[in-house]
Amino acid sequence: AKEAGKNTYQFFAADMNSQTFERLLMENGLRMALERDEFELHYQPLLDAQTHAIAAVEVLIRWRHPQLGLVPPNRFIPLAEETGLIRNIGHWVLASACRQLTAWDRAGLRVPRVAVNLSTRQFEHAALVQQVREALMSAELSADRLELEITESTLMKNPVEAVAFLYELKGLGVKLAIDDFGTGYSSLSYLMRFPLDTLKIDRSFVDGLPEDDDSLTIIEAILAMARKRGFEVVAEGVETEAQSGFLSRKGCSLLQGFLFCKPMPAADFERFARGWHGN
Ligand code: C2E
Ligand code: CA
Ligand code: CA
Ligand code: CA
Repeated sequence: AKEAGKNTYQFFAADMNSQTFERLLMENGLRMALERDEFELHYQPLLDAQTHAIAAVEVLIRWRHPQLGLVPPNRFIPLAEETGLIRNIGHWVLASACRQLTAWDRAGLRVPRVAVNLSTRQFEHAALVQQVREALMSAELSADRLELEITESTLMKNPVEAVAFLYELKGLGVKLAIDDFGTGYSSLSYLMRFPLDTLKIDRSFVDGLPEDDDSLTIIEAILAMARKRGFEVVAEGVETEAQSGFLSRKGCSLLQGFLFCKPMPAADFERFARGWHGN
């Protein structure tokens, strides 16, 4: 027992060190990452639930770190938020995503729209509207081809200001989606005031399908409300045929998940899309 305790401690200490080391590496690296061109965008399709045609593509950032390898967003976006670097990174993501869609248009690949994630600090910053306008203009992309995904918890942090800011963005002609929906304890009365086009049901509810009764009840309630309000509903994290079938039958509009396609670099996505029926 004594040996086991000692081992546990050693593991713990080693882990702490590597975590501190990683954070240091990341903080320093993050400042330089844009100019060193270390970020890359991966693309995951959203499919029409009835026809399975590609209806949109979500852009997901990764950081190709020289020592740490491919770093997923959950490991550096919080740090980018803390340091304020998210604004420049976010601008780069917007501009690159719009440019990529235009490039696909010109290459004859049919991808109706691109969805870009916004983090809390980006959403709160007034410069965002100008960044979005600039990204669209420089890519010569029509605004309705771009969707902005904002999480429910970001919107509910300051719902009164969020309403005004959403209207400003909406004024550009872009589409607006509420991400991770169902996790942020939205007051329904605020939800009704947000000028949204799309609800993205959080993966945690899709995970429970089709057996878990609570997930089922929540998803049915979301779909009923969305139908009344004319929202499009996306289910994310679809991993099984059973989930896909269930969600299509219940009237979900779009499906996204590993069952169909993982997020992948632009060239791989292009190959996938060209081979996918309906494209
Ligand atoms: P999210 O917007 O909720 O994105 C969905 C996440 O689920 C992605 O993780 C995606 O790879 C993953 N996913 C997709 N299908 C499945 C599935 O079938 N099963 C499972 N288990 N996972 C699936 P990823 O790429 O690691 O992104 C994590 C989060 O990082 C995103 O969550 C988003 O909040 C944030 N993020 C990603 N890219 C950006 C960005 O460019 N800017 C900002 N501000 N945040 C970003
Ligand atoms: Ca998202
Ligand atoms: Ca989500
Ligand atoms: Ca999420």
